[in-house]
Amino acid sequence: MDSRKILLMIFDGLGDRPLNELGHKTPLEATPKPNLDWFASNGVNGLVDPIAPGVVAGSDTSHLALFGYDPKEVYTGRGPFEAAGVGIELEPGDIAFRGNFASADEDHRLTDRRAGRIREGTEDLAKALDGLKLGRIKTIVRAGTDHRIAVVLRGRGLSPEVTDTDPHEAGETILESEARKPEAKATAKAVNAFTKQAYKVLKDHPVNRARVAKGEPPANTVVLRGAGVYPELVPITERLHLKAVGIAGVALIRGMFRTVGMDVLEVPGATGGLDTDMTAKADAALGALRKYDLVVLHVKAPDLCGHDGNASEKIRVIERLDAMMGGIKARLPGEIVIAITADHSTPVALKEHSGDPVPLTIFGEGVRVDDVLNFDERSMAHGALGRICGQDVMNLLLNASNRAEKYGA
Ligand code: ZN
Ligand code: ZN
Repeated sequence: MDSRKILLMIFDGLGDRPLNELGHKTPLEATPKPNLDWFASNGVNGLVDPIAPGVVAGSDTSHLALFGYDPKEVYTGRGPFEAAGVGIELEPGDIAFRGNFASADEDHRLTDRRAGRIREGTEDLAKALDGLKLGRIKTIVRAGTDHRIAVVLRGRGLSPEVTDTDPHEAGETILESEARKPEAKATAKAVNAFTKQAYKVLKDHPVNRARVAKGEPPANTVVLRGAGVYPELVPITERLHLKAVGIAGVALIRGMFRTVGMDVLEVPGATGGLDTDMTAKADAALGALRKYDLVVLHVKAPDLCGHDGNASEKIRVIERLDAMMGGIKARLPGEIVIAITADHSTPVALKEHSGDPVPLTIFGEGVRVDDVLNFDERSMAHGALGRICGQDVMNLLLNASNRAEKYGA
């Protein structure tokens, strides 16, 4: 039997809870979505607990699970994925931080924790810090979105067991990083040396002189948080013998792709925001199926509407997701397995992630079809897949695509 290609669609935060304003329906139940329903009607369905029943998943831990990894074994914090997402080529043992450009006075007291939400010149400022030597430790620095920054320490014997320098409050003094374990002393020392050096390099930087001249707060310091060691994991290419590529607008998810050994496809118009070009992403995904065994297409928009508590916007996003699936349906390649799911629920009423399970449809030739007719939370509960965990999804896809290896003789 020939193996098939796999297209995995992950709609971030798509799952929801019933809303009074929608007549006790979820946004999925309240939205006409003929194409998503077509895939559900012609596929096999169920509900997925991204980590385990009731556990509130982050996007990072749940993506690891959907890719078949046990997050409890491999997850080391968000910093490393963010750093990978802004293009830092990490190595096992690197310690990655998330951070902000901030404004401070000479006594390292924060006057603005986001340097006036600086947008311009951050690439130049990051470049000025990139490559700083802290003894035998090397620093790698990249600008993120707006005031955000990724900082990686590279050297021997580093430890993520250090405290943040970010005091999280303007008016407070930047914190000294401390070792939580004896083996982290050198790392804490390097972090504190970085704080001092960064101020020296940044305070008279042309970008900051220009800001001060315009009356804007200078980005003259960096505060760090969330130290994490780059995880050592077996790439998906080796583990599952799949050549895989991912499409996503947001840095965190792109970092997830890179970390698990997937290529990242650049798609113009894939912004990771509500304005993202879903048609362009679907086109790119269909094109990538010619070259790759597994294509993952991530859309952030439903999660944003959930966090904003905006039901009508979530409905509009679902309509657009449905139109995108219509485009895929119209150009359905043969010999393909398509899975449609989410990484977690982000209920509008909660404005945060919840532990509610998410819909899953698997569609493809030879896939057993059940009686589910609609792609929503209520209908999925009657699907033949029942209720499964995030880590089961990749196994189901390998089986449906005739790629699963026999367990035993
Ligand atoms: Zn998410
Ligand atoms: Zn979210």
